[in-house]
Amino acid sequence: MSKGIQQQPGLDSIKPYIPGKPIEDVKREYGLDDVIKLASNENPRGVSPKALLAMKEALIRLNHYPDGSGYEFRSALAKHFDVSMEQVAIGNGADDLILELSMAYLEDGDEVVVSRSSFPMYDIYASAMRAVMVKTPLTHDLGIDLDAMAQAITDRTKLIYVCNPNNPTGTMVSADAVDAFIHRVPENVLIVLDEAYAEMVDSNDYPDSLAYVREGRKNVFVLRTFSKVYGLAGIRIGYGFGHPDIVATLFRIKPPFNVNVLAQVAGMAALQDADFVAKSVSDNKAGREYLYSEFDRLGIAYAPSHTNFVLMKVGGKALEVQQELLKRGVIIRPCGGYDLPEHLRVSIGAMDQNKRFIDALRGILGR
Ligand SMILES: *Cc1c(COP(=O)(O)O)cnc(C)c1O
Repeated sequence: MSKGIQQQPGLDSIKPYIPGKPIEDVKREYGLDDVIKLASNENPRGVSPKALLAMKEALIRLNHYPDGSGYEFRSALAKHFDVSMEQVAIGNGADDLILELSMAYLEDGDEVVVSRSSFPMYDIYASAMRAVMVKTPLTHDLGIDLDAMAQAITDRTKLIYVCNPNNPTGTMVSADAVDAFIHRVPENVLIVLDEAYAEMVDSNDYPDSLAYVREGRKNVFVLRTFSKVYGLAGIRIGYGFGHPDIVATLFRIKPPFNVNVLAQVAGMAALQDADFVAKSVSDNKAGREYLYSEFDRLGIAYAPSHTNFVLMKVGGKALEVQQELLKRGVIIRPCGGYDLPEHLRVSIGAMDQNKRFIDALRGILGR
């Protein structure tokens, strides 16, 4: 008897990624016409206007393939971040670079060290490569536990992901802690510092990770994205910094045209849009302060955040509360999939959205 077409076994262990529920689905399912989404850490200010203009002007060039090497785009990133172009990787979102890192460095039985409550794409692509996830618990204050991660390293460890600030907790590990960690990790283990929210960090203790790249360190790779503070989640542009050997390796497997023409021009223009970034960061900070003060009033515990989302502790009824919010047209993210079943993650929206979320929450909790 034929067994039919079999997927390769790495895929069997993948838990599917559950994205934020789309607005249209919630409208349809609940018969609502006004729904807000605070579930995917998108920028409520919109798209960087400079990026928007650059994309409009580039539309006419869409008969051409993009520059696969991203020469101009990578040069601009190199200049902006004071590294060499050979140290700059680009991808179809930071997600894509996580996929490429997995393909490049993992094989059957290799181990990947991650926090139990972190970005799920690390697991998905590592599992696809038939690597084994080794997960460490959070610290008592919901931080990534770098000591536990260092202790989890074995001869089979190939990659370590340190999401900093961490999604979904919003917490940050300090420059000193990261430095001590980097010096503890063996040279044959690649440390990926995922800094998707770097621009929003509000601390003098945040690591200057690019310094490790500039000094030529071979086992540190820094991941960034245009999806969050630049408001370009829909066009898909991620980038990373690492030793030229690592960048060259990623280029060997990168689909040549996966960073499209619009993405490249948008990225270059957005880098110059300091005004948009500054406004996004200050809006975000104001929204964050508002949520903190309302959570305090409602007696809800939360983790102080360095990002554009806040993790709040709701308790055993977290999923019910999230469902009740949906009925009121407010989409936020449950955290069971992040091993935090009593928590909910809310993205910081525009102020009217934050207020609507809080009003709905107050109604549900009856406080
Ligand atoms: C949003 C996010 C990314 C991915 O961003 P894209 O560039 O949109 O793929 C990567 N890492 C973390 C921690 C994120 O939250």
